Formats: sequence, C-alpha cells, structure tokens
Amino acid sequence: DSTPVLDRQSRQESNARSYPRRIPLVLERASGIYVQDSRGQVFIDCLAGAGTLALGHNHPVVMEAIHAAMSSNLPMHTLDLTTPVKDAFVQEIFDSLPPAFARQARIQFCGPTGADAVEASLKLARTTSGRQNVLAFQGAYHGMTLGTMSISGNLGPKNALGSLLSGVQMLPYPHNYRCPFGTGGEQAIDLNLRYIEQLLSDPESGITAPSAMILEPVQGEGGVIAAPDRWLQGLRRITQERGIALIVDEIQCGIARTGKMFAFEHADIIPDIMPLSKAIGGGLPLAVVVYREELDVWQPGAHAGTFRGNQLAMAAGTATLRYLKQHAVADHAHQMGERLRAHLLKLQSAFGWIGDVRGRGLMLGMEIVDRDGEPDGQGHPPVHTARAKQFQQACLQRGLILELGGRHGATVRLLPPLIITDAEIDFVATILFAAAAAI
Ligand code: PMP
Repeated sequence: DSTPVLDRQSRQESNARSYPRRIPLVLERASGIYVQDSRGQVFIDCLAGAGTLALGHNHPVVMEAIHAAMSSNLPMHTLDLTTPVKDAFVQEIFDSLPPAFARQARIQFCGPTGADAVEASLKLARTTSGRQNVLAFQGAYHGMTLGTMSISGNLGPKNALGSLLSGVQMLPYPHNYRCPFGTGGEQAIDLNLRYIEQLLSDPESGITAPSAMILEPVQGEGGVIAAPDRWLQGLRRITQERGIALIVDEIQCGIARTGKMFAFEHADIIPDIMPLSKAIGGGLPLAVVVYREELDVWQPGAHAGTFRGNQLAMAAGTATLRYLKQHAVADHAHQMGERLRAHLLKLQSAFGWIGDVRGRGLMLGMEIVDRDGEPDGQGHPPVHTARAKQFQQACLQRGLILELGGRHGATVRLLPPLIITDAEIDFVATILFAAAAAI
C-alpha cells in the first residue's frame, strides 16, 4: 500500500516539493518509457526526468556502461582530473557538435546541474567582454539559482526573492499563438528583430553594450515554444555584429530531442556559448559548457565545483551519445514527433478547448484554453489552467504521466524518451483521447 509512504512524505518533505503534489505515486521500477508504482500500476512516462532520459529508463546500453565503469576500479570521483572515462566523454561531445563548432570549441565541466552550466556561461561572457548586462527572453527558464532566476520568466518564485542580478533586459520571445506584437507569422519575426536592434542602438535604452544574449531555441518550461529559424539567424547576425556572446541553452532541447543533435542546428547557426546538462549524463548528474575557444580567457579557479568529475555520469553519457549517433535517434525523434503531432492536431479538432499545438520533434505541447473567455488581441481565447490540471489527472488515471508548463501552467507538455516506438505513440494518443473525452 503506497498510502502510508505518501502520507509520511507529505509530512516530512519541504513545502517546496512540486511533482509529488500532482503526481502522487510511489515509483518502484522502470524500463524504457514505462514506470511502475508500488500498487503495480504501469504508466507511460512522458516527463522522463524533464527530458533527461533520452534513451528511457534503464536502457541496456547505459546500464552496461555504468556496470562496466563500476567494476573497473575506476576512481569514483576525481574533481576535474583527467581519466580515460572523461577523455572518452569529451571526445564524444566534440563528435556530436557540428564540425564548424567542434573545430574551434572548448569544454568546461561544471557542478552537475544545468543551472550551474548557465551560471558559468554568464560568467564567461562577462569575463571575456568586461561587460555585465544580459539580454534574456520572456518566458525563459534557465534554472533556480539567484543568477539563473534573474534571466528567467517565472515571476511567482522570482518576485518572492527581492533583488536579483541587475542589468538584465527581458525581451519578447516570438510566440506565434500569443504574439507579443499581435501579428504572428513572418511579420512578427521582422518586428521582433527590429525591436531588438532598435534597443541596442538607442543609448536611452541603457543596454547598448550587453555581455551576452541568452535564449532557448525551444522554450520548454515556458510552454514549449519553438523559435523560428529565421529569427535565430537574425539574432546570430545582430549579436555577431555587436560583439555580444550568444548563449544558446540546449539543456532541455538539445541531445537529439528536436530531431537534430542540437536544436540550433535547425537554423544553421553556431552559438558562442552552449550550456548542456540533462541527457548528456544518460540520467546521472552532469553539466558542461561548450564555447568558442577565443572566449577561453578565464583562469584556473574561475569556475569550479566539487562534483565536476562524476565518472559514472560520464560513462553513462558517453554510451548515450554513442547510441544516439549509431542509431540515428535524432531522425527517429523527428519522425515520432511528427506522428505524435498528427495525433495532437486530431485531438485539437475534436476538442475545442485545445487552443494550440506546438513544439519540435519530441518536445511537444498543447495550450488549454477557455472558449467562453474574452479573446486576446489576436482573437485567441484565454488559458484554462483548471482544465489543464483536470486533463493531467485524467491522463494519470489512465496510465500516462505528463507535465504542465507555460504561463499559468496551462500548457500540456510531452517529453517522452526518444526511443518511443510508433505503436507506443499511438497508445499515448489513445490515452489522450480517452482522458479528453472524460473531462
Ligand atoms: N535550462 C533549461 C532550458 C532547462 O529546461 C533547465 C531545467 N528544466 C535548466 C536550465 C536548469 O537545469 P537544472 O534543473 O539541472 O539546474
């Protein structure tokens, strides 16, 4: 019986816990896309450690790499000292980069969270430019440290903290459905770029010489919003012309999830700095920053962190990256993403309260709306958070774990393991339809 465990947890665990409140399960076992709870019920895991489990739970290739590392008398922990396992991991990361980036890249190991890799990216941009200000985007999510919250959008927790980093300018992110310029489409891309260029040219904006611009090519926590390629190309040009470091946060959308190894590759651009975490450790904690070698001006001790040398995570990460490349998993993620998107579009035609279907590859979302509410400037109905929560619960009852995100938590987010099959995608869709019909 899982009830005593859940009761005890809710008494003992901090109020800041989030997932167990909405997904009150005691998970005991897992394999591939499936997890099993203490009552024996099986669930499809379309959260997958917030996108961390590219190959799903306990993939044999990853397990084998971890077991091999554990039985080889490896040093368990080495700070950032060199080991053969680390060397193999670094080679694998470089082999995963587009050649034009790999030829001139450096890697820095970080404390093992995504947030730490973003902090390191901001510090590197400040150190190389001697400047401090940062451009970031509305709706962004870069982590939960004071620095990363300063450049993120989620206002509730952020405002509760008081002063954060100064010199941060939040800019509009191109959102076709809730367009900040009220137009959507190609016109919005031009308006957005023009707005940013104007800001950078006008001394009165106070932000003419920022150190960096940081963005997610697909906003995840912000509601699964994919940036248009042409916009990313425009930002690459603008930042290059002005000597602003372009930091592309691939922590969630990178590592084959959107149908390319890195999401920036869709736009055929190269970032200056790229923080990576989540899937690169094959499910174990690991984070790095990859950046252009000209930026490598910092000195020993400029960025450290005790757990930079997690050998098991590097072994699991190497096995994951190799598998992804050998089995063309990025292409598979693209195909499965298109299959899932087709199901979501059918769901949208059947249920009027699904306002928007969006995302890229296997990073997809649906915005839940209230057709009876007052439409916005573009004629779209307001979000319906309560219905999104109901839908999440109805899916959970039918054996599907998914998460909510975006403004007001009204976007349903689907982040399945990338090894999901045709039949499993269709099964996810069956559950989505049944859940939608039941609420
Ligand atoms: N950046 C992005 C794009 C993320 O999605 C996340 C985590 N959801 C982070 C940074 C922060 O990573 P971590 O939780 O490991 O600090």
